[in-house]
Amino acid sequence: MKEFNLIQRHFTPPTTSADTLLGVGDDAAIIQPPPHQTLAICVDTLVAGVHFPEDTHPRDIGHKALAVNLSDLAAMAATPRWATLALTLPEHDDTWLTAFAEGFHALAREHGVDLVGGDTTRGPLTITVQALGYLPPGQALRRDGAQPGDHILVTGTLGDAALALEQWDHPHPDSTLRARLTRPTPRIAAGHILRGRAHAGIDISDGLVQDLGHVLKASGVGATLQAGALPLSDAFRGAMGDTTHWRLPLAGGDDYELLFTLAEADMEPICQQLAEQGCPATVIGRIEAEPGLRILGPDGAPLTLEQGGYSHFGD
Ligand SMILES: [Mg+2]
Repeated sequence: MKEFNLIQRHFTPPTTSADTLLGVGDDAAIIQPPPHQTLAICVDTLVAGVHFPEDTHPRDIGHKALAVNLSDLAAMAATPRWATLALTLPEHDDTWLTAFAEGFHALAREHGVDLVGGDTTRGPLTITVQALGYLPPGQALRRDGAQPGDHILVTGTLGDAALALEQWDHPHPDSTLRARLTRPTPRIAAGHILRGRAHAGIDISDGLVQDLGHVLKASGVGATLQAGALPLSDAFRGAMGDTTHWRLPLAGGDDYELLFTLAEADMEPICQQLAEQGCPATVIGRIEAEPGLRILGPDGAPLTLEQGGYSHFGD
């Protein structure tokens, strides 16, 4: 397996444009960020059997490997523009690679992202994507700006992907839920609306409680969440029936929705703009000066979680 051939065959033609001066094919890519913009850079690795079920369709793996990185750029309010890809493959499988590249490229095209570099090695299936985007200086949606009195909001719905994962081996899985797991939607437009306006933001990849915890810690504040306010999809409600369902929307991973905090005065215009973009947001709680996270059930009594979220290295 010749690594350059693989990358060239499946991930070319190399792109050149005003801001991608040199793409795939040389020792390094040359990019030209727009004038007076800062670069946002992130990287994420997906390991088969850890971050996605081994029998996930390769087209979905290609989509997801890029989507989780675009979600991180959305969470910084950046505009995605470039990506690099490092693929570790157990064997040379042209059919698999063709489908993987289709999924990757379709999402890249949708967001105007150029793939500008890549590498392949042999080993257990592992995909690392680095994404680069840009934004005006000082406009990033950071984790450390939440203020007491802010409302806490999330885009979309929570818990769908985690439920799909639990039902992965079900003979007739719900296709809406499954798509939320295998083909997450990076909330780029929402990030742009929040740019320079939301006090703090993060994307929910490891579960609401864990990711909100990062915001609280970075901001030096606490919060109270209203479990009864968590946005749940019709598919989720239909599948769960009357069973208690707090664990999945609170601690299930892979939502890739944006969590952000807003001052009271910004609520109405921003929520209206998000809804107009087809990405409505829901108020789920309030930032408070007192450290720690308090979660109240619909009856006003505190809830406790057995598990705070998904942690790769445990406690
Ligand atoms: Mg993130």
